[in-house]
Parts: sequence; structure tokens; C-alpha cells
Amino acid sequence: MEILHISAECYPMAKVGGLADVVGSLPKYQQNLGHIAKVVVPMYRTKFLYDNDWEVVHKGSIKMGAYSNEFTIIKEKLNKTGFDLYCVDINGLLDREKVYGYEDDTERFTAFQIAVLEWLNQWNHKPDIVHVHDYHAGLIPFMMRNCFQFASLSSIPTVLTIHNAQYQGWMSWDKGNYFPAWDTWKWGLLDWGNTINPLACAIKTADKVNTVSPGYMEELMHNANGLEALFRQEWAKCSGIINGIDYMVWNPETDSYIMDNFSIKDFKAGKQLNKKKLCDDFDMDINLPLFIFIGRLVGEKSADLLAPAISRAFEEHGKILNILILGSGEPSVEHALYSLNNKWVGYYNTQISYNEKLSHQMYAGADFLLMPSRVEPCGLNQLYAMRYGTMPLVRKTGGLKDTVPDFGDEGGYGITFIQASVEDITHAMQRAITLYNNQKQLNKLRETMMNVNNSWEQSASKYIDLYSSIL
Ligand code: ADP
Repeated sequence: MEILHISAECYPMAKVGGLADVVGSLPKYQQNLGHIAKVVVPMYRTKFLYDNDWEVVHKGSIKMGAYSNEFTIIKEKLNKTGFDLYCVDINGLLDREKVYGYEDDTERFTAFQIAVLEWLNQWNHKPDIVHVHDYHAGLIPFMMRNCFQFASLSSIPTVLTIHNAQYQGWMSWDKGNYFPAWDTWKWGLLDWGNTINPLACAIKTADKVNTVSPGYMEELMHNANGLEALFRQEWAKCSGIINGIDYMVWNPETDSYIMDNFSIKDFKAGKQLNKKKLCDDFDMDINLPLFIFIGRLVGEKSADLLAPAISRAFEEHGKILNILILGSGEPSVEHALYSLNNKWVGYYNTQISYNEKLSHQMYAGADFLLMPSRVEPCGLNQLYAMRYGTMPLVRKTGGLKDTVPDFGDEGGYGITFIQASVEDITHAMQRAITLYNNQKQLNKLRETMMNVNNSWEQSASKYIDLYSSIL
């Protein structure tokens, strides 16, 4: 079957977080299963754009209320991603350096969606499935069914994957005139709480809805940033499919970013060499346990708890641990973490940046990964960490609950805790330090977690089953 994925991010073209990793890998695995998967994203001014050759495949124009825009669809020529990657270029609107965070994001992503449908309307054949990701593509199922000019697309089945339900793309009703002429009797499909809510609209109008883990789907019925009642109403078409990881990118045996490649057979020496590189770079003592945190420094990730928890850990235990943090986000959290750099010199370092290479080196060289998230739809960091033999310390929520069993339980290989609190985080760190002092047990657990199969193969088939159920 032929699947068209529509998303705001796709690794390596544009990445902010896990959405990019999923949209950059799931289609590859769908192709491996014998299907045709294509991806379309906005054309941002990223390194991948400039480093690669592109061909123009379509030119068109869209109208959004009083504005009109020309757009161009370009395709990466050499198929470097392993699937057909298309970008929508709208001069002045999409061609920016960042993916999100502009005042006119509403206009940008609305224009993107209309342009994709204009283009799709011109295809000689139609895809079997239109698969939209998160709210940035959430108006598409609605527009396919209810905008008169897209009538020829109205019978294509649609799937919505929710990677994060916190962000919903709310816009005031006056923006309703941006959409191409639509059946205004259907206004209720766009509305949630007197605003246009693209995520809610997609939940109502897509044929199937899934989240990126079963645990997160259950949580959304009770905690969904205002959409709980909607999830309960639409439960029959909702399900959870756990994300896989791209074994071609995240593989300690072949990863070109890391100091020393290693496999399950020689991970002890391999991890040690990678740890040495990290400790040398950050002037830390290789003999102490190395904890890391990688991610957006926001409340969802409990990043605000890191500085007090780390201070507490150092105060309680003294200088018997190393901590390395990589991320960016809320200025107050960045400041709190960065200001500790001077306090625990030689034991602690925060890098406020986005650094793909360093993130790989950290997964490879660390002993423990901190993930105390308040909300975690799936979480990929813990899966990458385990693949590289780094034990995750996770709060039992969403996908973390589904993927990390506690080593205190039969067959478990992680450290879990219940509350997003300084006490629970420091208690988990205490357990990790104790475990670190028993290297034999820790290495056995590392071996177990490295053996767990978290690749896309199984989950990619589940998506195919989901599509088949609506074809
Ligand atoms: P999110 O909620 O941000 O999508 P995920 O765990 O699903 O969280 O995915 C996060 C992805 O982004 C992982 O690939 C992680 O390594 C990467 N990442 C997050 N922050 C950074 C950073 N500052 N530098 C490099 N990679 C990062």
C-alpha cells in the first residue's frame, strides 16, 4: 500500500524532538515491509536542505483569506532518507531557521496543510492512506472531507498519530476564513471550547487515532490538557502503538558519532572508552558513576526538578557522582541548571544547546540516564540509552512505564519511581549509586537491556494492521 506521512518534523531534515525521529524512521521500516511510504514536511532552512540536491516536482498557489501564496514542492533527489522526502516551500512563511516558535506559526502550519492538499489534489493516483502527525497536520482530515475543492480526496482513509497531546494548535475563530471554502454546517468538528482546536479536530475526523504508547493512551482519558472528554467519547477508534527506534541510526556497533564502537559482546570495554572520552572532555572522574539528562528543559520533562534534586544529591552524598546535562528550553530552568556549573566544578556540567553528536556520545559513555518526566507519550531517550547499555531512571508514566521495568522486579533492568518530586529522584539516584558499586550486577543488567528488541519492525507492522482495518 502507499502511505503519505504529513508532519512538521522529520529527521534528518528537521528535528526538535521525538516526532522527527519517528517520522524519519517509521516510513523506512514500512518500505522494508514492502509498502511505499512518502513523507512531506515544510521546507525550513536547515543543514540537510543545503547539503542535499533537490528537484522541483510541483508548483501551485493557495489562498488563505485575504492572503495568497505561491508554493513549490521539492523532492530530495538521492533518496538519502530511504523513502521519498518532499518539502513544501512557501517563500517568507516556511523557509525559516527554526521549526517552531514564531508569532505566525498558525498561519505557517495552516498554509503548509492547504499546500499539501492542493498538491495531493493534482496527483494522478491517490495514496491509500494519509497519515497525519500531531496538530501541525491536524486540520488535514477535516479539510479532505469538508472543503469543497478537495472533494476528490474525501474517500482516502486517514490516521492521526499523537506524539504529544499537550500542544493542540488552538486558534481563534476568525482564522476559520483561512481554510478553503468548507461546509460550515460542520463547524462543530473544528471547535473545542469556543476555539478552533486542530488536534481535537483531528481526533474527531481521522478514521483512526493512535498515541505512541498504550500507557499514554490510557492516561489521556483522564489527563489530556482539556481533551479528556473527547478521548473518552472517541475511545473506540483510539489505540496505542509503542515507538520503535531506528537501529540503522542508533547502533553502538556502527555509530560514527561515538569514540569507540561496541556490541553486546564487548560493551564493558566499549562503554569505558566512551566514558573516558566524555570524562576527559568535561574534566570529570571516570571512576564515579556518570548520570546524564538529555532533552527539552521544560516542565513536561520535570527539568525544573533537576537543579534541586542534583543539589540535594551532592549535599547528601558528597562528591561521589558526575552529572552531565544537555538541553535547552525554559530560561528559568536553563539558568538554574547552568548556574550550578561553577558550584560543582569537575563533577557537574550543563550544556545549553542542541547537539546531536554529543547526545550520542552521552548515551554511549554514561552509566545512568535521568528521565523524571511528568508527561512522556513514549520517550525515545530511554530506548536509545538501553541500546547503548545505559540504565534509565524513569518516572512510571506513559511510554516510560511501558518500556522500563524496574530491576527489583522479575526480569527488570531499569530504575523506576512514582512521583515527579525531588525526593523520588534523589532516592532513585541513591539506588543507582548502590548498584554502581556492584559492577557485576550492573553489567548483567546492561547485557539484559541491550538484548531487548525495541526496533521498529514489530511496531511498523502494527501500523500496517491499523491501516488495513480502515481500507
Ligand atoms: P520529546 O518529547 O522531546 O519529543 P523524546 O524522548 O520523544 O522527547 O525524543 C527526544 C529526542 O530529541 C531524542 O532523539 C533526543 O536524543 C533528542 N534531543 C532532545 N534534546 C536534545 C539536545 N539538546 N541535543 C541533542 N538531542 C536532543
